[in-house]
Amino acid sequence: MYPVKYIPKEEMIDEYFGLCSYNKKTIFIRNDIPKYIQIFVLAHERQHEKDYKNGIKGTLWLEIRANVLGGLKHPIGFIGCIILTIFTFKRWKLYIKRIVKGK
Ligand SMILES: [Zn+2]
Repeated sequence: MYPVKYIPKEEMIDEYFGLCSYNKKTIFIRNDIPKYIQIFVLAHERQHEKDYKNGIKGTLWLEIRANVLGGLKHPIGFIGCIILTIFTFKRWKLYIKRIVKGK
């Protein structure tokens, strides 16, 4: 399993709460979001790590898998993450951009 690094908002690219870097073989999670959301974000990124190692592809499909499988493990964190996302308009733009670009 990749090691996990908790980093400040300023060091995270875009508006991500977490990131699974396949190049750096590290999971990055923002240290300014509530703990219960961090737990969900970690489960989400771990799913990306697993799917990457299993060669599963498709941005939208990968996000659905990470959200559903991570959300089943940590439903409260998943709901918290959705609420935080709704109130962070920049995150909407990011998701739309990623889905349109397909990566
Ligand atoms: Zn994701």
